[in-house]
Amino acid sequence: MNAISRREWLVALTAATAAAASTSAQSTPPCAQHARTCPAPPVIDAGSAGVPVPPPSDAVVLFDGKSLSEWRSSDGSPARWLVRSGYMEVAAGTGGIATVRQFGDVQLHVEWASPNPPKGADQDRGNSGVFLMGRYEVQVLDSYGNVTYPDGQAGAVYGQYPPLVNASRPPGVWQTYDIVFHRPRFGAGGALVSPAVLTVFHNGVLIQDGVTLTGPTAHQSRPAYTSHPDRLPISLQDHAHPVRFRNIWVRELER
Ligand code: MG
Repeated sequence: MNAISRREWLVALTAATAAAASTSAQSTPPCAQHARTCPAPPVIDAGSAGVPVPPPSDAVVLFDGKSLSEWRSSDGSPARWLVRSGYMEVAAGTGGIATVRQFGDVQLHVEWASPNPPKGADQDRGNSGVFLMGRYEVQVLDSYGNVTYPDGQAGAVYGQYPPLVNASRPPGVWQTYDIVFHRPRFGAGGALVSPAVLTVFHNGVLIQDGVTLTGPTAHQSRPAYTSHPDRLPISLQDHAHPVRFRNIWVRELER
C-alpha cells in the first residue's frame, strides 16, 4: 500500500469486483416471472440471413428437410407435422414432436421461421419452442416488433431469462439458434447435484451466456428440479402456430 492510498485501493478493488460480477454468468433470473416491467432487451440487427449452416461431420442430423424419421409424436406415433420443400411446419393440433434418440449435454443447431404474414400478438404470434430433454424451453416466438414479457420472447429461457438482446429477423425469414446445453446432474437419491446451464446464440449473436436454469420450464411457476434420466428426447412445441423448422442437427457432448 505505498503507491496508492488504501482508499484508492478499495475503490479499485470494488470496481474490479463489479467488473468480475458483470462478466460472470447469471445464476438467478433478473425479474419476477413474466413481469412486463422487466426491461426489454435492446433490439439489434443481426444482419441478413445466410445459407443453412451445414452439419459438421460429427453431428447427428435430426432434420435434413425431407424426412421426419428422427421424430415422433408425444404418444410415440409417427410425427404428423407437415414436410414441404426443405422444411417442416407445425401442424396445429397434432401436438409437439420429440426426437427418437435421446440426448444429454449437446450443441444443438436449429433453424426456424415465423409465419408470414404474421398473425396475432404477444404470446399468440409465432409461438413454438425448443425443449432440451423435453423440459427446458428456449422460446420460439415472432419477436420482430412484437412486444411480450421479456422472459417469454424469442430466445428467452421461458419464464426465467430474457435474451440479452433481441436479435430477431422478420416473419418468414430464416433464423438460427445455436444452443449449448449442459444437463442437470442428480445424485443417487435423486437430489440435485448441479443445475442445467444454457448458452444460446440467436442469428449468431450471444443471447444467453451460460445461464443457470432454476428448474424445468413452466408457465406462471418456477418449479424445482425433479430427478430424470441422463438422456431424454429433444422436443419442439406445437403452440398452434404454423412455425417452420429446417436444418436441425446436434453434436453430443457426452460420448
Ligand atoms: Mg413456446
